[in-house]
Amino acid sequence: MSFSASVLTLYPEMFPGALGLSLAGRALETGTWELDAIQIRDFASDRHRTVDDTPAGGGAGMVMRADVLAKAIDHTSPPGDPRPRLLMSPRGKPLTQSRVRELAAGPGVVIVCGRFEGVDQRVIDARGLEEVSVGDFILSGGEPAALVLLDAVVRLLPGVMGNAVSGDEESFENGLLEHPHYTRPQEFEDRQIPEVLTSGNHKKIAAWRRAESERLTRERRPDLLAAHPLVK
Ligand code: SAH
Repeated sequence: MSFSASVLTLYPEMFPGALGLSLAGRALETGTWELDAIQIRDFASDRHRTVDDTPAGGGAGMVMRADVLAKAIDHTSPPGDPRPRLLMSPRGKPLTQSRVRELAAGPGVVIVCGRFEGVDQRVIDARGLEEVSVGDFILSGGEPAALVLLDAVVRLLPGVMGNAVSGDEESFENGLLEHPHYTRPQEFEDRQIPEVLTSGNHKKIAAWRRAESERLTRERRPDLLAAHPLVK
């Protein structure tokens, strides 16, 4: 069975977007995963197809209505749907590679994309939406965040990445940032490829890469190092 993604959005035209190209696009064509973009507005009940209203308690902006969103969710993901229901949200738990791996191992995902000031809290609670953030900054809508999440998940699906090995050695997979890469030409604007990499000594190369990984992580992400079981 293929991985099934349903995205609830006011802008279904944004999908598959970038995910229609390259590895994800090919996997979509071959049926490794499927993507359904659902227009939330189709579940509004009034003539103007209203999906938002002014915030209770006052203030700027608009809030997405609980009733309209609940109808869209119930249609897309009825009780018994095994897929986790996510809400893209800057208030959510920051997305990590380990959560991405969990999602990729599951049956799929239902993703709600917020717009305006956000979503009525009652639908988040009533439908058990898991809030997920892609970083400490504010996007204008959840759609780019959903594309980011799906890109990270889809590349891990069986058969999507040509060279399956490369997935295991990347930044975060072992709790460290990845070492630098080099390729031909041997000399570029007076800069050489580090000698060890052309030495043919695989043990030395592995040691150099590991040391570079630790150096970069120490310089750039001491928080990752603090959480690392082996490196101190
Ligand atoms: N008023 C909100 C921001 C709303 S931005 C606040 O201050 O928290 C509008 C929508 O964009 C959100 O509902 C969410 O779906 C999406 N969004 C914005 N930033 C995001 C982020 N960093 N990660 C995931 N989704 C985000």
